[in-house]
This record gives sequence, structure tokens and C-alpha cells, in this order.
Amino acid sequence: MKLVSACLIGLPCNYAGKSSFNQELFDLFLKGEVIPVCPETMGGLSVPRVPAERVGQKVVNKEGIDVTEEFMKGAEKTLEIALQNKVDEAILKSRSPSCGVGRIYDGTHTGSFTEGNGITAELLMKNGIKVKNES
Ligand code: SF4
Repeated sequence: MKLVSACLIGLPCNYAGKSSFNQELFDLFLKGEVIPVCPETMGGLSVPRVPAERVGQKVVNKEGIDVTEEFMKGAEKTLEIALQNKVDEAILKSRSPSCGVGRIYDGTHTGSFTEGNGITAELLMKNGIKVKNES
């Protein structure tokens, strides 16, 4: 079984209330091969919400509010679902401060990127789950 970022299968759960629909992943969802998760909403954040970016080990939104706790809570819930379902791989939305793999927004809210992983992607990796982005 695999996890997939919920926004990739069409759930309008990103900060702006939009999705990043991917037909191939949606087809896997219809076949029951992927479990959708949205760590940010599972951590208690609303839709829409103020966009946030990683700044080191913290996550701070565009208004300067520290939302690390919500991001951590969502990551832990995602890990729990992964372990309960014996998930070995996660396909996650690129660049997100939760789901990004290898390359994420750099914390300046200027549309620039840096090397790194989202909070959830990092926690899954630390627990031996293979993580990749949709591309
Ligand atoms: Fe998509 Fe992940 Fe952001 Fe949720 S937290 S909207 S699943 S990228």
C-alpha cells in the first residue's frame, strides 16, 4: 500500500483551497492502491489558510506565526496511518513544507527554493518509508 498527498488526487485542501490534480494518481486511488493524506489539515489547519514555509526545524506562515506544532501533529498522524496500513512508499506533492521531497520553498515567501524535505516527508523517511514526489 502507498500513501498519496490528498491534493494530488483532487481534494481542494491546499492553502488556497485548491488541488493539484494528477490523473495517474487518481486512477490508483480508484483502484484502491493509495491512501490519501493531507498532513496540514490533519494537523488542524484550515482551508484556506495562510501559506507557510519551513525555516530550519520550524514552520512559519506568511504572517510570522509559528505553525510548527500543527505541521508536526499532521506528520505524526500521517506516520500513524502509514504504520497501521503497512505502507512502504509515499507519493507526495513537490515543494510543500509538509510533503515536499528534496526541494522545498526556502522560508522567505518569495517563491525561491532550497534543498530539503517537508516535515511529513522527513518523518516518513526517518521511519523507513520510501518517499518521492509526483513527478
Ligand atoms: Fe497537499 Fe500535502 Fe499541502 Fe495537504 S499538506 S495540501 S496533501 S501538499
